[in-house]
Amino acid sequence: MTAEPPVIEIRDLHKSYGSLEVLKGVDIAAPKGHVVSLIGSSGSGKSTLLRCANLLEDSQQGDVIFCGEPVTWKGTGAHRHPGDRKQMIRIRTNLSMVFQQFNLWAHMTILQNVMEAPVTVLKRDRTEVERTARAYLDKVGIGDKADAFPAQLSGGQQQRAAIARALAMEPKALLFDEPTSALDPELEQEVVRVIKALAEEGRTMVLVTHDMNMARDVSDHVVFLHQGRIEEEGPPDEVFGNPRSERLRGFLNAGQ
Ligand code: ADP
Ligand code: MG
Repeated sequence: MTAEPPVIEIRDLHKSYGSLEVLKGVDIAAPKGHVVSLIGSSGSGKSTLLRCANLLEDSQQGDVIFCGEPVTWKGTGAHRHPGDRKQMIRIRTNLSMVFQQFNLWAHMTILQNVMEAPVTVLKRDRTEVERTARAYLDKVGIGDKADAFPAQLSGGQQQRAAIARALAMEPKALLFDEPTSALDPELEQEVVRVIKALAEEGRTMVLVTHDMNMARDVSDHVVFLHQGRIEEEGPPDEVFGNPRSERLRGFLNAGQ
């Protein structure tokens, strides 16, 4: 029996903005049902890596492989970009992103926010989408906020709405970019609880976070990025309990 390929895999990825090389040959893989966390200082390339994974960014070299299917590129070097639009849309819709700043549409209700992409992008049946959207809002604990507008919700509730919106795409993996960083400490935990529950039900996730407790609790694998390279990686017990590299030790100590 052949093992199922990872939901998302990145091999030897290089990414530059002009002359600034931000990713210098990075490999990561998120097997189905696994949670991979990316940690590292601000500017180490975590967001860029996530954005390259779902093709929000071009890259100059290396492979992005979705469920065993390599992205086809057009052009070379600085001019390389995804060559097949249908493939790009398939990959983006299957890797739903949750951002630090929620990015909800202010003029739409919470329910409309959750329903928008499944109806307009995936062309799913509106009645069916509404049913699942309400179920996802219940799941993240804000079923009673369906008809409210984003400005009427707390930050923690808005972020849970953004998670429901990502889930409503029924993606193969969720990509989180610092989902708790914009929240007050007392609101952070309600979002952490939702992310933990998603990990426990076996969702595939790539999680960029500054919250080392959450990374330790939810991850199968932790990757420490330093200046665009993987400095150290491994199971959370090893990365947090027995860090080998001086830089990782320094990074973890600075957060105490
Ligand atoms: P992190 O998420 O780890 O804080 P980022 O991936 O956001 O790091 O950024 C990595 C580096 O790339 C930083 O030096 C940042 O200034 C630079 N960078 C990010 N996005 C852009 C961009 N659109 N144009 C130019 N430089 C960028
Ligand atoms: Mg970032």
